[in-house]
Amino acid sequence: MKFYILTLFPEMVENGLNTSIIGRAVKNGLLSIEAVNIRDYTLDKHKKVDDYPYGGGAGMVMQAQPIYDAWRSVADRLGHAPRTVYLTPQGHCFKQNMAKDFAGEDALVLLCGHYEGVDERVLEEIVTDYVSIGDYVLTGGELPAMVLVDAVSRMVPGVLTNEQSGTGESFEGGLLEYPQYSRPEEWMGRKVPSILLSGDHAKVDAWRREQSILRTIERRPDLMDTAQLSEEEVRRYRKG
Ligand code: SAM
Repeated sequence: MKFYILTLFPEMVENGLNTSIIGRAVKNGLLSIEAVNIRDYTLDKHKKVDDYPYGGGAGMVMQAQPIYDAWRSVADRLGHAPRTVYLTPQGHCFKQNMAKDFAGEDALVLLCGHYEGVDERVLEEIVTDYVSIGDYVLTGGELPAMVLVDAVSRMVPGVLTNEQSGTGESFEGGLLEYPQYSRPEEWMGRKVPSILLSGDHAKVDAWRREQSILRTIERRPDLMDTAQLSEEEVRRYRKG
């Protein structure tokens, strides 16, 4: 899968995405991540990419021309208009099912805004999806773009090894994951739940399933409305 990140701060996304699992997947050729510097495409002789907002008000607005030309350079190379995400607090809140959906694309363009945002006209021209990473305002779209690349990349076949497999993780089936433990068996007087040491896989699975449900009820009760539960679990755990 190819990611093209349109940004004014290419070094930020390059440095943020070249380590650990994502960095290895890039080295192995499963992913390519290209930071496209929007400033390289400005026609302004002083390399300006922003200007004052029409109608007045605080801050600067990123201009349409450099963004469009940066996007065009990617579209021309791909030979088609790619799915293009604008990271914005005004977008749909990013969820695991969106990560899965994006992972089905061969190429994805991510546009990172800065300052007060981006001239609306270029958004209308190129953007297919508006995505927010939460109800708060950041200074730029680079961190949200990195969040999206990380979450989407994990869904690309081969990026996670078997040991790191994404199955059974939080949000699979609409539940949070059960608690995890590793060595030693006792730490600071706290013991690993004895069932995990029993070697009885059926009992371990049943315990984990129950913990998943209880944890979801405690921490994210909103997820319970749509979680995939058996009839027995519905009777036991769903309110009403
Ligand atoms: N004036 C804009 C508004 O009120 O909606 C906010 C602009 S913000 C200071 C600058 C840039 O950061 C945005 O263009 C967007 O790319 C990015 N950004 C900020 N918060 C974000 C969030 N929660 N999710 C995704 N992108 C965000």
